[in-house]
Amino acid sequence: MRRFINSLLLAEIVKGFLLTLKYMLFVPRVTINYPHEKGPISPRFRGEHALRRYPNGEERCIACKLCEAICPALAITIEAEPREDGSRRTTRYDIDMTKCIYCGLCQEACPVDAIVEGPNFEFATETREELYYNKDRLLANGDRWEAQLAANLVADAPYR
Ligand code: SF4
Ligand code: SF4
Repeated sequence: MRRFINSLLLAEIVKGFLLTLKYMLFVPRVTINYPHEKGPISPRFRGEHALRRYPNGEERCIACKLCEAICPALAITIEAEPREDGSRRTTRYDIDMTKCIYCGLCQEACPVDAIVEGPNFEFATETREELYYNKDRLLANGDRWEAQLAANLVADAPYR
């Protein structure tokens, strides 16, 4: 009898609507309206690579090639030669992002915080060629993201 009355009054449908209304009106939303809204990202997030400079504009990278040696995907290619002032700098710094597995070892190995993985995850491309990064591209990334990269390194420093 109870089941018959419930069916007659559409009780299950009413319950379902009430549940929907509850979640629409009173429960905080867990979804965000990407790309207009973005969620928080950890300072350790391993996104697009960047080469950083010192505040005076000089490249941080000293061409020690530790990042190239440690990269398990063999994604980094470096060529270097001394400058006229005797300092050692790269003449070529390429990362094949199609090989990279975003392990972060290059960043860990770098003694001068030159190569870093930044917060940018929006660098999808239409062709593979666009994912072959050269030094200019990496330095441009560093210039673009420097404020956040520096803040992330400071936030992560106590745990390194
Ligand atoms: S994140 Fe890992 S795989 Fe990618 S370039 Fe750095 S060391 Fe190589
Ligand atoms: S990015 Fe860092 S680890 Fe790689 S060659 Fe330059 S100084 Fe060395």
